[in-house]
Amino acid sequence: MRPFSLIRPTTLAAARARALAEPQARPFRAGGIDLLGLMKEGLRAPAELIELHALSATEGAEMRALAATEGGLRVGALVSLAALARAKGLPPSFEALREAASSAATPAIREAATVGGNLLQRPRCWYLRHPDLECLKSGGASCLAEGGENRLHAILGGGPCYIVHPSTLAAPLVALAATVTILGGGGRRTLPLEELFAPPRERIDAEHRLAAGELLLALELPAPAPGLRSVYEVAKEKLSHDWPLAEVALSVVVEGQTIRGARVVLGHVAPIPWRALAVEQALVGQVASAELFARVAPLASVGARPLAQNGYKVALTQGLVRAALHRACDVPIPE
Ligand SMILES: Cc1cc2nc3c(=O)[nH]c(=O)nc-3n(C[C@H](O)[C@H](O)[C@H](O)COP(=O)(O)OP(=O)(O)OC[C@H]3O[C@@H](n4cnc5c(N)ncnc54)[C@H](O)[C@@H]3O)c2cc1C
Repeated sequence: MRPFSLIRPTTLAAARARALAEPQARPFRAGGIDLLGLMKEGLRAPAELIELHALSATEGAEMRALAATEGGLRVGALVSLAALARAKGLPPSFEALREAASSAATPAIREAATVGGNLLQRPRCWYLRHPDLECLKSGGASCLAEGGENRLHAILGGGPCYIVHPSTLAAPLVALAATVTILGGGGRRTLPLEELFAPPRERIDAEHRLAAGELLLALELPAPAPGLRSVYEVAKEKLSHDWPLAEVALSVVVEGQTIRGARVVLGHVAPIPWRALAVEQALVGQVASAELFARVAPLASVGARPLAQNGYKVALTQGLVRAALHRACDVPIPE
């Protein structure tokens, strides 16, 4: 690993200015889990890291806060996954977020990993992370997964590169209609979280729409509509210390037995958190039932184009959507 300096700015302005110093932008360090992993593997070699935990109490307050708003929730970008998982008083409607934060990675990683870093970590594609290979994202001419080892890659929205979005928190946050506040050259701006993520067709060198030196400050979950419930379902090869094969986070607004609103977000099947819009549309206005869920779950894979080794993700995703709907709407799964 190349030696580097850890810069410890105490103000947001100083952190951003240092990150943008010439000749090359320097990365922020939050939990450091992904960044230092990439550096140890020789995939990144910055001369300096900008330590976000050095921000003063006042300057870093928004990034460290985990607080209820009017019915909703504000989550600072420096809040750890562990703190989110064990937060007291999270509205029951936000259960999907708690479940996802408790399931990601390992207990030790969850203590260090932050919400902002989790959303901005690089994909786990073994070709991108191989120091001796050049794929589309690392400067090569083609996606090596497309005709190679692709059992963990995208079935939806892929091409020209077939990564899957790695963040476990992204799907529940999008399902709960989170917005994100960013600090950049033009000041602060807030956008729906799903607009933060850039598919490979739009941007090949990164998976987000941030400019160099822009900081994620915080996320905000709006107050849930009455009757909103959310759940997170995941399939892994082993239950702990492992990455998802596929996951779904969904929120439904249920009035009586009728579904009035739905946001269904798939993870680890596409380069971005993937809204299953056909499922959402087929649910709204319908009475929750096992028959309905059996009918709409296959719509989760509308448009899927599996690669040679990942066709299993089609049935797996449909099954997760069906299981999540049963749990969210409290409808027993038929024997
Ligand atoms: C064995 C193992 C299993 C794992 N399993 C999972 C899993 O199941 N699900 C999952 O989601 N993850 C998993 N991870 C990945 C881990 O959760 C992430 O690496 C971690 O969440 C990244 O967060 P961080 O705070 O350490 O980010 P860092 O490594 O500090 O930063 C990541 C990137 O985000 C940038 N950044 C960080 N904060 C900000 C900010 N506020 N503003 C702007 N830029 C910022 C950094 O510059 C860097 O580019 C696993 C990791 C390991 C090693």
